[in-house]
Amino acid sequence: MNLRYDTFYIGGEWVRPTSARTINPVNASTEEPLGHVPEGTESDIDRAVAAARAAFDDPTGWASWEPARRAEVMERLADAIDKRADGFVERVSAQNGMPVAVARQLEAGYPSAVLRFYVAQARGLAVTETRDGLFGGSIEVRKVPVGVVAAIVPWNFPQALTMFKIAPAMATGCTLVIKPSPETVLDSYLLAEAIEEAGVPAGVINIVPAGREVGAYLVSHPAVDKVAFTGSTAAGRAIGETCGRLLRPVTLELGGKSAAIVLDDADLDLSKIGEGLFTSTLLNNGQTCFLGTRVLAPRSRYTEVVDAFTAFAGSLTVGDASDPATQIGPMATARQRERVESYLAKGRAEGARLTTGGSRPEGLDRGWFVQPTVFADVDNSSVIAQEEIFGPVLSLIPYDDMDHAVRLANDSDFGLGGTVWTSDPDRGAAVAHRVRTGTIGVNRYIPDPAAPFGGVKASGLGRELGPEGLAGYQQTQTIYL
Ligand code: NAD
Repeated sequence: MNLRYDTFYIGGEWVRPTSARTINPVNASTEEPLGHVPEGTESDIDRAVAAARAAFDDPTGWASWEPARRAEVMERLADAIDKRADGFVERVSAQNGMPVAVARQLEAGYPSAVLRFYVAQARGLAVTETRDGLFGGSIEVRKVPVGVVAAIVPWNFPQALTMFKIAPAMATGCTLVIKPSPETVLDSYLLAEAIEEAGVPAGVINIVPAGREVGAYLVSHPAVDKVAFTGSTAAGRAIGETCGRLLRPVTLELGGKSAAIVLDDADLDLSKIGEGLFTSTLLNNGQTCFLGTRVLAPRSRYTEVVDAFTAFAGSLTVGDASDPATQIGPMATARQRERVESYLAKGRAEGARLTTGGSRPEGLDRGWFVQPTVFADVDNSSVIAQEEIFGPVLSLIPYDDMDHAVRLANDSDFGLGGTVWTSDPDRGAAVAHRVRTGTIGVNRYIPDPAAPFGGVKASGLGRELGPEGLAGYQQTQTIYL
């Protein structure tokens, strides 16, 4: 793959960048260059925000349309994205090391499913409600689009997480400036091509790949009305501080360190639970925010649980992300592998017991690979149990009884995902109710477009997806009649 772009998609046109600097993505599995795109500057952001502003402020334009009319455009965009499914799979997987089997599901099919969910939402969107006033007269309550959205996304699921923002923003009548992460930029050009082909009105969606400083500039841009951010907790705090100072609405989808709580009646037969376990604990090479990487195991079955997770992690096929048989690909960048390896060293130094993995796999000399790793006998207060590793590393922590398990699950700065494993779904749901987390699954976990997704505590603010996801893109206006 050698893809070279020399323009940005701004205001419905392919415009020349203001700087000659480029972003040069690299294949995570082979370390080979993949091409280049221009690197956005503050001037490019100014142009993109101006285009989004003009599109939003046009009195007869996008924001003034009936939602059902916008839904037509959204549907065409979903079709144009579907046509490019193979391209999205290939580009995302090459850039960030996501196995193609995972990318096919989550970076090709999933984003258009999210968009189609919001097509239906737009068609049913009630934007005006009239009610009787308590003091006489009637009152009109309008839901108006919040305005120009700055959407900043990470590299781990670049298309899905971009669509979490585009879809509700389009449904409600907002316009967007999207800033992809420098690690995953080639897929953003396919998206821009789909946007153009679908006839999305000029300026409604603008895309400027750039680094974090330019991202920070976008966040504080005076003509932006709302910020939608997905990424690390550290960056989220910085963005939240800026938005607090500006009193600018912000949605923050941040990191996680969720608990996978194995109950004493769990069926540990990997032929039955292996797939669900994979999605909820090691998906995308462990580079997924919602993974249950703290596995809480009952002391009564502790050895059995350690053996099952060790067999599970040890059985996964590690290899080039482009191979359909691969289950665990490389880390997205050399820096990311260094980070994961520093946690492997910390785990050992903290006295955790390594039961499988712990180093680079043999025979894979190129690419940023790490073996799927399990640490047993982990103390929940240790660094590897408290900090987000963002790699294929699981920590097994014993518990005495249900109250102890719930205390351990909640003893975390984060609260994004989680799972409960049990033969009794009612018992699983009862435990799930006690966990302080934004989302949790019983014997399975995958964010469903129909349901709100997001975190509590250091995992973020606000919700994306579901009908609830519309609220982040709307404000209410009250008219006393
Ligand atoms: P990151 O925070 O370094 O970067 C994310 C994006 O923000 C990138 O586009 C980056 O250029 C930009 N950015 C960074 N600092 C910024 C700033 N101060 N102002 C404006 N923009 C800034 O995160 P990452 O390493 O790319 O992604 C991994 C992190 O994302 C993990 O912590 C993971 O848990 C989190 N994540 C969360 C969710 C979720 O929905 N909760 C989903 C996926 C990933």
